[in-house]
Amino acid sequence: MNQIDPARGIHVAISANAVDELVAYCREHYDGTLVTIVSDTNTYAALGRRVHDAISRAGFETINLVLTGEEITAGAEYILRVLLGSSTGDQLFLAVGSGTVTDITRYTAFRTRNPYIAVPTAPSVDGFISVSAPLIVGGMKETFPTSAPVAVFADLPTLAAAPQTMIAAGVGDILGKFTSLADWNLSHLLHDEPYSAAVEARVRRALDACVAAIDAIAARGEDGIRALMHSLLESGIGMLEFGDSRPASGAEHHCSHYWEMKLLREHKPALLHGAKVGVATALIAQRYARLRALTRDELIDLLEASELEPRDQQIAEIERVYGTAAEDIQRIQTPYLDMTPLEYMALKQRILDQWTQVQPILETVPPPETIVDMLNRLGGASSAEALGLDDETVVEAQRYGHYLRDRFTVMKLTKAIGLPLTSD
Ligand SMILES: [Zn+2]
Repeated sequence: MNQIDPARGIHVAISANAVDELVAYCREHYDGTLVTIVSDTNTYAALGRRVHDAISRAGFETINLVLTGEEITAGAEYILRVLLGSSTGDQLFLAVGSGTVTDITRYTAFRTRNPYIAVPTAPSVDGFISVSAPLIVGGMKETFPTSAPVAVFADLPTLAAAPQTMIAAGVGDILGKFTSLADWNLSHLLHDEPYSAAVEARVRRALDACVAAIDAIAARGEDGIRALMHSLLESGIGMLEFGDSRPASGAEHHCSHYWEMKLLREHKPALLHGAKVGVATALIAQRYARLRALTRDELIDLLEASELEPRDQQIAEIERVYGTAAEDIQRIQTPYLDMTPLEYMALKQRILDQWTQVQPILETVPPPETIVDMLNRLGGASSAEALGLDDETVVEAQRYGHYLRDRFTVMKLTKAIGLPLTSD
């Protein structure tokens, strides 16, 4: 694939020889510009050295920053290292790495008003094309605005040689689109949230293409890896086009964010984003399966019995679960916390009135076993246990993850109907 995304003018190349194409692009667009290459020890060995050599040979002046350390995180320390190591003047940044190196570089490039090019070394996440960077600030993960890359050059042989866990994580992030797209449709139908059919079509095409290629991806064939990378970039472009992450991030991402925050709080090593999302997708698919199984009579009985959870009770729960982050989360949740009994009645009525339109949305999410089977075929983690998460943490993410965003998802729907948020 070689194309320019018409909406943003981002040059996207997935190629068997991406380094040569990258050099040609830099010559054409950034002749005479200082090039600052950011990688880490692993990604320098995988591709960074080759990029550095090729760019230098082409006559560019370069700064080569190889980040070292036990666990590289997108936080103060590494952003400072890149700031201190780079130039104070104009430069083109190259982020050679997976999600974290890209986030560090993206943010630094944005704040120093310089362009950057993403050179992924693993097809692990859909965040290579993005206008935001999740950064760790004071032990908490927060998302900050940045700019999109001017180009992405993905080198197929490098991507195919990435660790299997990272390839499986990329597929996990894409499988999350089953539930994020369904959540997005529910939010539009039942809660008037903004939506675009064209963007949904784009992201769904990316999802379908990845699912069709699962075995080819597991075999690390060029076609399979190309399909995966293409899906990841398309998902990123979908978010960019729409203007927020709704098309690609729903309840499964809220679960994943919950786990990530808890691991950070407990000073435990981070898990790959897509690995968490894949496992969370299977959990959220259970909620979809439960709703699909409801008869209309059961729905009516449940809605009649369901009561608005008192504001104080919800706030007490948020404070207990989120500790120092509780204030921020309360602010995010204001539209739900402030819901009046009358508004709650209206929501329940709307759910009942729209139920025939809700059903086809529920049917777009495969049964949880299908998600688990796909993760298994990839050789990735297919259960929370395999990720090292205990039962309590799994239950918490399902119960409290929905507080992390103000979006309507299958969890908000499940709660409004009065069904349990967990499978037990
Ligand atoms: Zn994701």
